[in-house]
Amino acid sequence: LDFNPAHSWEFWPRDKIEHRTVRALHNHVKHVKEASPYYAEALSGIDPRDITSLADYAKLPMTDKKTLVENTGRFLAVGPERIAETVVTSGSTGKPLVFSMTASDLDRLAFNEALSFHAVGVKPGDRAQILVSIDRLFIAGMAYYRGLTLLGANTARIGVLPFDMQKHYIELLKPTVLVGVPSFLRRLAKELDAMKFDARASSIQKLVCIGESIRSEDMTLNAVGKSLEEAYGANVYSTYGATELAVAYCECECRCGGHAHPELVYTEIVDEQGNPVSDGMPGELVATPLGVEGLPLVRYRTGDITFKIGEPCACGRQSCRIGPILARKSQMIKYKGTTLYPLTITNALDELDCIDDYVIMLEGGESLSDEVTVHAVTPPANVPQVVSHLRTKARVQFPVLVTNAATINAMRGDARKKVRIIDNRIPGKRQ
Ligand SMILES: [Zn+2]
Repeated sequence: LDFNPAHSWEFWPRDKIEHRTVRALHNHVKHVKEASPYYAEALSGIDPRDITSLADYAKLPMTDKKTLVENTGRFLAVGPERIAETVVTSGSTGKPLVFSMTASDLDRLAFNEALSFHAVGVKPGDRAQILVSIDRLFIAGMAYYRGLTLLGANTARIGVLPFDMQKHYIELLKPTVLVGVPSFLRRLAKELDAMKFDARASSIQKLVCIGESIRSEDMTLNAVGKSLEEAYGANVYSTYGATELAVAYCECECRCGGHAHPELVYTEIVDEQGNPVSDGMPGELVATPLGVEGLPLVRYRTGDITFKIGEPCACGRQSCRIGPILARKSQMIKYKGTTLYPLTITNALDELDCIDDYVIMLEGGESLSDEVTVHAVTPPANVPQVVSHLRTKARVQFPVLVTNAATINAMRGDARKKVRIIDNRIPGKRQ
């Protein structure tokens, strides 16, 4: 793939994007029926010629992660001799997904990240440091590396190092862009400050943030996003990706939602019943990656709750955007007859400097209301303040229990991520 962002579909008029998307979806369905044993069966009653509109496509069955994990071999649309790289992602159900990519899929992944970083304003001459693992079978670090180098940025594969080494490489290589997980970047800022390194006066201009939300539902920066901008004197940009999609939704320089790259993915937001919801309304992100050879997917349910932003962006891109991830669908909270998004609660707790760490424990599951408890590492005298802040900011009244760092780590187990929600609700009562 030649990388010329000016030729990207995202700058086309809306009707042209839609016209080409319908054609791409028609071709996609035709291809997966021929190449993937799973879809040959799942779509056996579907004639690709009947797909002449987005509404036609929305009638096709969706695929979820459980089905993909349990039938990976049957989804595969190429022979084993075509597989050029394997990545593994932990499933929410516990069983890992072994995700296979061809050489062309790797080029596609690079093209996708190059488009994303281009939208962030990264250019040849920029010096980018990747502060996430590029090994350990992760897709993300490798995708950023390939995208940044394709774009022509000077790219350093730093990974996750001790903080004094991070400081060393910032001083030595003078990065203009850092790519990392918000909670890690926040911790790094504190450690740099403790080492008398002034990040605000440093070369760092942009922070591309992955894996955790830096915005609230109303698209303003949350406490983590604000503290990163403050600590580095840099702009923060959110990017969202999922291994199975091999695509990213990354914010542009206007920073108002992650742009879909329409030549690489078709995006839908659906309700519990699978019906489309209007722009701005929360629902599950359902994505169809386009142009994938190895493990192609049709209408893949990501399990992530967000909303679509339809109005055109000031940057000139006409592609749709998505907001922050409000919740994993499985982690939505039933509370006194309404549905709560964990992001609302974590954003409120992150605003409090008096809490060092916390987890939100979900229990119950049989009644109309879940039992929610906040376990916080904070002096007991702060509990009334935490309770009052949650009532004001998240409109909830949850019990707050004081705990310590060792107990929280034990509650998390050996999860690779810094888990914020521990779900002990009775299974089977919800999806
Ligand atoms: Zn934009």
